[in-house]
Amino acid sequence: MSLSLVTQNLEPNSAKSAPDAGILYRGNPSALPKRRRVELQCQKCGSTDLRKVSLVYRDGLSQMKSRSRLVGLLFGAQGPGIVTGTSVKQGVLQRELSKSLNPPAKWSFTKLDGASFVLTCLALFGYIVFASASAPPVSTLPVKLYVFLAPVAFLFVTIATWRHNHLVYPRAYNEWDRSFICQRCGTISSHNT
Ligand SMILES: [Zn+2]
Repeated sequence: MSLSLVTQNLEPNSAKSAPDAGILYRGNPSALPKRRRVELQCQKCGSTDLRKVSLVYRDGLSQMKSRSRLVGLLFGAQGPGIVTGTSVKQGVLQRELSKSLNPPAKWSFTKLDGASFVLTCLALFGYIVFASASAPPVSTLPVKLYVFLAPVAFLFVTIATWRHNHLVYPRAYNEWDRSFICQRCGTISSHNT
């Protein structure tokens, strides 16, 4: 029994091709991820300890969510509402961290409408000030200019917004999705994976 076991153990060692193939097969899977990690190297400090920005961002978001649920705070886009104790520092830290890692944002048409409303109000206010300051036959030229220019400006901004959302945003998002943050020095670089 023992003798046959020994010969079985010795047999592959004496036959040269068999163990070589075994070692190659066992060596390959561990060699592959090593080579991939070497490719992902920080361009500044050379550290290979890189993390995907999108993952760090999502981590930060879910951490913020779970923490706010735990402590009973609401973390909106504007930041923490009511803040107590140690959660302050962490909340601010998370916010600072995710600010630099934020994905590119689409331009919103709602904001655009809001901005044009504010602009119209300002223009109206400006005209009232202008009218009350000038002599009785008040020029209607500013009104005519506004009536003509406002739709042109609005159309221009609408086209710019559409262009940003359909051409610039996807490219920027893709770039963000390919970027990695160095865990040592914090440099953000992009890599193809
Ligand atoms: Zn680095």
